[in-house]
Amino acid sequence: MLEVDSVDAYYGESHILRDLSLHVEEGEICALLGRNGAGKTTTLRSIASTEEPDVRSGTIRFHGQEITHMATEDVAVRGISLVPEERRVFPDLTVEENIHIAEVVRNRSNVLGRNVSFGRDQMANEDIYEVFPRLRERLSQKGGTLSGGEQQMLAIARALKQNPDLLMLDEPYEGLAPQIIEGVEAAIERIREDGTTVLLVEQNAIAAMNIADRCYVVDQGSVVFDGTADELREDEDTRQRYLGV
Ligand code: ATP
Repeated sequence: MLEVDSVDAYYGESHILRDLSLHVEEGEICALLGRNGAGKTTTLRSIASTEEPDVRSGTIRFHGQEITHMATEDVAVRGISLVPEERRVFPDLTVEENIHIAEVVRNRSNVLGRNVSFGRDQMANEDIYEVFPRLRERLSQKGGTLSGGEQQMLAIARALKQNPDLLMLDEPYEGLAPQIIEGVEAAIERIREDGTTVLLVEQNAIAAMNIADRCYVVDQGSVVFDGTADELREDEDTRQRYLGV
């Protein structure tokens, strides 16, 4: 579904991703692990084609079509959604309005004619609330008053509204208590069962290995391990050297 082939990416003159390759298969949960600063977020940003970093060589293909250097919105309408680490929710809008805004943005790109040939139906609010029953209970609560876990759920819900084929989550468990992590984990598994492929970046390698089918470990901008979650669990050397667990 997604193929990242020999990508070199830069912030200004800082060379961050070095010959990085990975692939994500349809229907799987794939985790990108590694220490702080290893290049995980940069990888997601390269795929989403955000303004930075600058991908200077290599190719990124989605459903066989090259998306390297494509406009961010065009990558999004092709079916890739990124939930960034900052969990962007509108603090002064209610849960319902936050989700509605995602819909408006989508309709606007329709007006701009961007997804004429890539149109997919938006996910119905009911289906989103099935994944996140907690949000249904808080429809009229302001985004800014939600707990960290609920804000994460809302940020994911907003991305799901676009009905992506590939949902990319940047550190979804960051700052969440173990019990809340379990709720987010269950939601991610449910999202996959509903047919969405997931690429997840996490510092919390143990939690990520719980739900991932396959894992990549990134160090200094390159992939140093590629295997199943079970293989990574058994590879003590890699875990200790690159993940500290
Ligand atoms: P983290 O958990 O810290 O986000 P990460 O593996 O996601 O870790 P990246 O955010 O991809 O790491 O950062 C990789 C390197 O790029 C780091 O050395 C970081 O300092 C640098 N970097 C990140 N963003 C920028 C930027 N906008 N401009 C310049 N350098 C950056």
